Amino acid sequence: MLDVILAGTGGMMPLPNRFLTSLFVEIEGRAILIDCGEGTQVALKRVDCKLSRIKMLLITHFHADHISGLPGLLLSLGNAGKTDSLIIAGPRGLRRIVESLTVICPGLPFALDIRELDTREPSSFDWTDGENHANTPHFTITSLPMRHRIPCLGYFLELKRPPVFNPEKAKNLDIPLKFYRVLHSGTSVTLDDGRVITTEMVTDGSRKPVKISYCTDSAPFASIADFAYESDLFVCEGMYADDAMRDSMEDKRHMLFSDAARLAKQANVKELWLTHFSPAEINPKAGLQSVRRIFENTVIPTDGYHKELIKQGG
Ligand SMILES: [Zn+2]
Ligand SMILES: [Zn+2]
Repeated sequence: MLDVILAGTGGMMPLPNRFLTSLFVEIEGRAILIDCGEGTQVALKRVDCKLSRIKMLLITHFHADHISGLPGLLLSLGNAGKTDSLIIAGPRGLRRIVESLTVICPGLPFALDIRELDTREPSSFDWTDGENHANTPHFTITSLPMRHRIPCLGYFLELKRPPVFNPEKAKNLDIPLKFYRVLHSGTSVTLDDGRVITTEMVTDGSRKPVKISYCTDSAPFASIADFAYESDLFVCEGMYADDAMRDSMEDKRHMLFSDAARLAKQANVKELWLTHFSPAEINPKAGLQSVRRIFENTVIPTDGYHKELIKQGG
């Protein structure tokens, strides 16, 4: 099961009815959180995201609406009994920022594994938690420098999917039932008759990874569409529905709803979720009809919008 929850949908500042943008991606009890502005831990609790499951935090950039919630989140993780280390990845300079913010939350009961990513070139790293078995979630995380007023990264998460177990193949090889589970988990077994059976012998070919793209804050540019190409879900900023705000958005290096929709169309994604609405954008949903003329499968979410990208057992 892969669950994606957009805990907040706002930009700039939290509002009484709209928290700041952050995305919670959970699989098999492990979660990756992207961005943590003021109030994000409250936004997560409101929609029942379990903080204790967060293994990695990805920060897009060092504007307050994306990182100022960090000390509170870390304290809450400590109170929830977290003892294993937390990966925090973000643009160059992250270590200094985290060290500054954690002055006010000393003595955390877990270690911070800080990873500074390149802010000039795309980069990627692999992440898995625990044993590297075939059914342990395995992500490749790629970062792409955005075009914002300060260094900023977009993130592209690809979840590798384990091959599907094929009981016919196992039956044809006369493998006892008790070995099915361990074989599917990626471990070879030796049968009583001395034959060694590997996972490849009882599974079907590999499946296309599930891809989630997250881009905020940035002026629009073509590489975003290249990196988000054929995403299952593209979460992208849209500050305003009204194209009359174009000059202001170009100045401030942000996007309009229509910019995000054009990128979604170019990238041929399955679904676009708009987010990071300006506090002045009182009713973002009013822009839905016009944005769907550019990209049909657009969602204008409210806080807590979620989707199961992979169903239980899938
Ligand atoms: Zn922002
Ligand atoms: Zn910003």
